[in-house]
Amino acid sequence: MEREFCLVKPLFLNLRTGWFDRSMYGSNLVFAKDIAVSFIQGRYRVNADSNKMNISEFWFDAEFKTGKKEVLTKVLVNQRFLRLKKVVVKLLRFLLLYFPKDKLYIKASGSGFHVYFFLKDCDKETWELFIHHILYRVRIPNTKHVSELTFGLDIDSILSSERKISEIGSWNKVKKDFKHEVNYLNFNTWVSVDKFFELVSYPFCSSSESVQYPLQYECCNMSEKLLREAKKAKSIGTRESSNSLLLTKPSRVLEFKGNIQKNDSAYQLQKHCSCYWNILRNPDSQWYARNFLVKWLIYSMQLEKAEILELINKYNAWSDYEPRITAFYVEKHFKEGTNESKVKRPPKKETLIKYGLCKNKSKRCVYGKLYK
Ligand SMILES: [Zn+2]
Repeated sequence: MEREFCLVKPLFLNLRTGWFDRSMYGSNLVFAKDIAVSFIQGRYRVNADSNKMNISEFWFDAEFKTGKKEVLTKVLVNQRFLRLKKVVVKLLRFLLLYFPKDKLYIKASGSGFHVYFFLKDCDKETWELFIHHILYRVRIPNTKHVSELTFGLDIDSILSSERKISEIGSWNKVKKDFKHEVNYLNFNTWVSVDKFFELVSYPFCSSSESVQYPLQYECCNMSEKLLREAKKAKSIGTRESSNSLLLTKPSRVLEFKGNIQKNDSAYQLQKHCSCYWNILRNPDSQWYARNFLVKWLIYSMQLEKAEILELINKYNAWSDYEPRITAFYVEKHFKEGTNESKVKRPPKKETLIKYGLCKNKSKRCVYGKLYK
């Protein structure tokens, strides 16, 4: 893969144990030729800027989530297998309209499935166009922030730009021994598209010797048909302000019972247009929406980190709110070199509309106004 794709960035994890936080600083990342462990645990998703051929990887994470803590057993995974298979079949049937089946890869990750392929001549913008279009067309539920058993795709992970991916041959030791999310040891294994359609139970793999690997990773050629369709959908989408992300649950906004003083920053969030206030009061607020909110608080309202955390703590209605995790992510906006601090301005009004976060199409939206 490294040779075929002419990779110019070290993407592979050189650790036996699985992903560690330390890997964020690049110290555990190597080129494939320098891997010293006996089987690859993981790598970063291939983005166009990591290779000379403008190859972008499309990666879909199909899983089930209940929203509650549970320890997975093989019996449980098999009970849910057929419903999960339906999700993957739906995705495959769409992808097979555009890409050859021997270049679509499936791996069984222990309880879910990864479906992925590599596309030549696909820059970052085309990747974004395609990923939104595919998610929109397949209309599979998002498994993030669910409160009942849901079969679908981890859309937040699929859309994230720097994505860590477990590789074929990796094991779930961290999940089993540290996170206690599963009670069995499993190795990531490859399943061909034909084999997948025949499966009647989950293809567990309990030893490294029985791991199946594809002969090699090959990339697909650009599908002009998909490109045409995605562009067309996008132009219609902008006109009607519909977006792939609308396929997530319709947004709920919880009312805040209490008085908000005029000198409180929260007051400004509702004064002209309530798009940012709604992000704060929506129990299912998506990660990208929260990022928009933080950017707005920093670059338009000029708040300091502590003020932002205080405001969020006081007024948020997020069902998964965890002050320490929120602080961790807000911190990233203030730290140089993170994804979050790359763009140093408030989100554009068009962006909010595109993501379905601002219904106010008139000029009254707060975008562009600066408060002190
Ligand atoms: Zn607005």
